[in-house]
Amino acid sequence: MHVVFVGTGGSWPSPERNVTSVAVRIGPEVILLDCGEGTQRQLMSSSVSFMKISRIFVSHFHGDHFLGLPGLIQSMALNDRKEPLEIYGPAGIVELMKSLLGLGYFKPTFEVCVEELEPGERVEFERYSVTCALADHSVPCYAYGIEESPRPGKFNKARAMELGIPEGPSFSRLQSGESVTLPDGKVVEPSMVLGAPRKGRKLVFSGDTKPCDSVSALASGCDLLIHDATAAADNEDKANTYGHASARQAAALAMNAGVRMLALVHISPRYEDAAPLLEEAKAIHPNCILPKDLDEVEVPLSQD
Ligand SMILES: [Zn+2]
Ligand SMILES: [Zn+2]
Repeated sequence: MHVVFVGTGGSWPSPERNVTSVAVRIGPEVILLDCGEGTQRQLMSSSVSFMKISRIFVSHFHGDHFLGLPGLIQSMALNDRKEPLEIYGPAGIVELMKSLLGLGYFKPTFEVCVEELEPGERVEFERYSVTCALADHSVPCYAYGIEESPRPGKFNKARAMELGIPEGPSFSRLQSGESVTLPDGKVVEPSMVLGAPRKGRKLVFSGDTKPCDSVSALASGCDLLIHDATAAADNEDKANTYGHASARQAAALAMNAGVRMLALVHISPRYEDAAPLLEEAKAIHPNCILPKDLDEVEVPLSQD
């Protein structure tokens, strides 16, 4: 699970930061969380192939989170995309996409499947599931939790040798969940040589929000929380009034929710230097980053 911070600013773009978008690579797939204006240009400068994006999850319908969609989809069509593209969001996304795709003379060359999610809904895919939770913003806004499917348990090589399994392809077959028949006809099931399945990694993206219980619950024990950190402590009240969080509030929420790593995003364009925000957050949650645009982070596998 690899994360590329495509745009880390909030509200409007600044010379330092583009508006919100996060790309998550899981296996061969790329998922996009929000797609603010200019996202496609950012992607061109990143390690992510915009043609590989399979699904886009939109948090809410403020321009800094969705205005990049029509341009990105038009570029996919100009590059001859054939694979369908799935777009998910709160109620109203179907109507919104109809308007955006109806602009100008554009005709998509591929299917754009748009789905409205209910708060709390969980969608299952081949390699992961995505759960949405209602954030606390000035308009309906979703936080999204992406959870990898459980990984197979640890392979017990000593046990496999004891059972007389020859080292080589049989080991990989057992590790990938297939049973193996030995020359004497004995069948070895994967459960005989594998430990209990291990948890997949979990990432949560808050969308725009002031600190709230539903995002905290969604983020409980997650490996990486990417949270609204619009303001520094001295502007906290104002940020909260507009449905945003301060960096230190994001850190406190992450700490209470047992989050392993916190990434602060949606930085207000007023901060040319966002170092004080990181400092305030780190005083509360030590494992905290404030990524620049196009920074990347690999979500580490948990040890258990
Ligand atoms: Zn925003
Ligand atoms: Zn917003």
